[in-house]
Amino acid sequence: MSSISYVNGRYVPHRDASVHIEDRGFQFADAVYEVIAVQHGRLVDGDGHFDRLDRSLGELSIPEPMSRAALKLVIRELLRQNRITFGALYIQVSRGQAPRDFSFPQNVQPTLVMTTKRLKPFDFERTAQGVSVITIQDIRWKRCDIKTVSLLAGAMGKTEAMSKGAFEAWQVDADGNVTEGTSSNAWIVTKAGELVTRHTDSAILGGITRQTVLQLAAKDGLNYVERPFSVAEAKAATEAFTTSTTAFIRPVVKIDEQSVGEGKPGPFVLKLLKLYGQHIENHK
Ligand code: PMP
Repeated sequence: MSSISYVNGRYVPHRDASVHIEDRGFQFADAVYEVIAVQHGRLVDGDGHFDRLDRSLGELSIPEPMSRAALKLVIRELLRQNRITFGALYIQVSRGQAPRDFSFPQNVQPTLVMTTKRLKPFDFERTAQGVSVITIQDIRWKRCDIKTVSLLAGAMGKTEAMSKGAFEAWQVDADGNVTEGTSSNAWIVTKAGELVTRHTDSAILGGITRQTVLQLAAKDGLNYVERPFSVAEAKAATEAFTTSTTAFIRPVVKIDEQSVGEGKPGPFVLKLLKLYGQHIENHK
């Protein structure tokens, strides 16, 4: 983590950055967040992330802590103070601090926290390396469309994936369909050459990278469909990949130890990754 963090109006040394134990983010996971990639000193798909933040806040009736214009100024200053050109910005808004009580308190000032992290610049070759995923039962609640900090199920799943040497765990619903990864959206390419990712509803988070990849696919005339797909279909696919803000587009070459397609990143995902790299460059 970078040395300076933002907490409720102040830029503070990260080691001193803290919120109260009565903060509802801590007590109830009553908070939402965003992670935005920084490339060439600029936010990647910033407006998409700000729109989603507004939506998450709206769904939970948490007031916006400040206007979008003010938020952008604070972000610019935080990136400047930490000298971040390539990295990631983390934003969290909780309902605020109030005596512990289940029902939402009224007239509470939301807590706004931001941190930054320096990361290596987007690199095609590095990102194009294939990864493996495992499948796990989706044990999360029914409002996964809201980007809340209630991430325990995902943390458990990711830990299981790591312990098995996998990059990600794809979560599977009661019908045997893949919903999404613990912190990424899931995609396959069928034998018929169709790009498939699950449609958005309250069972998954509408990823900003997912949205960008769909736009890039459409612009390039690639054939895609948003629908559920089963684990069996994924294992029989010619290609698979997973998308997120920090992982970008990661080819998936193994699902539960079973090779996908030829067991290496395929032409479809490499094409999309190339388009994504151009998308980042275009936003310099
Ligand atoms: N699904 C889940 C559950 C996630 O946590 C994330 C990343 N936060 C994503 C999908 C990918 O979203 P994005 O592309 O906006 O990072």
